Amino acid sequence: AELRELLLSRITDIPDYPQPGVMFKDITPLLADPAAFGALTEAFAELCGRHRVDKIVGLEARGFILAAPVAVRAGVGFVPVRKAGKLPGTTLGQSYELEYGTAEIEIHSDALAPGDRVLVIDDVLATGGTADASLQLIRRAGAEVAGLAVLLELGFLAGRQRLEPGLKGAPLEGL
Ligand code: 5GP
Repeated sequence: AELRELLLSRITDIPDYPQPGVMFKDITPLLADPAAFGALTEAFAELCGRHRVDKIVGLEARGFILAAPVAVRAGVGFVPVRKAGKLPGTTLGQSYELEYGTAEIEIHSDALAPGDRVLVIDDVLATGGTADASLQLIRRAGAEVAGLAVLLELGFLAGRQRLEPGLKGAPLEGL
């Protein structure tokens, strides 16, 4: 509860970003506070032991920032999931619906080993579209979803409900 208060106090609301009517949750103050960033890293790293995690997948772009120190702390590998066209090697791609149009994310096809237990990390869960696509990519790569960890869940967007089928019982850990 104390950790939650600390972290929430380091996330600020930016109105009308990136579009009018949207309230954007800005995590940069948290990143700039080593006590808060360190405590978050520690909490996410503990999940790796609890859920027997072999690899951490970070979602571009803020997911990278949170996931990389967790991977180092937990002693497991870090694997990036990127927007289409950014990874240099052979990739698997997954497209998903946005409010207007579609988006695509990719992973290196050889980044995960069959049976790897993967924890996905991102900063904010909004509609759940990005996270859901990443779960599909991980399974298509032959690995297992150990869980999804996010700093902040925007409850009113019902991402948790959208993700429930894709999680297949794996835990969604929020703040
Ligand atoms: P979703 O696919 O769940 O609708 O959107 C989640 C993605 O958009 C995440 O990768 C997250 O980084 C980004 N995102 C959406 N809304 C916000 C927000 O208010 N603050 C931040 N920091 N990221 C957001």
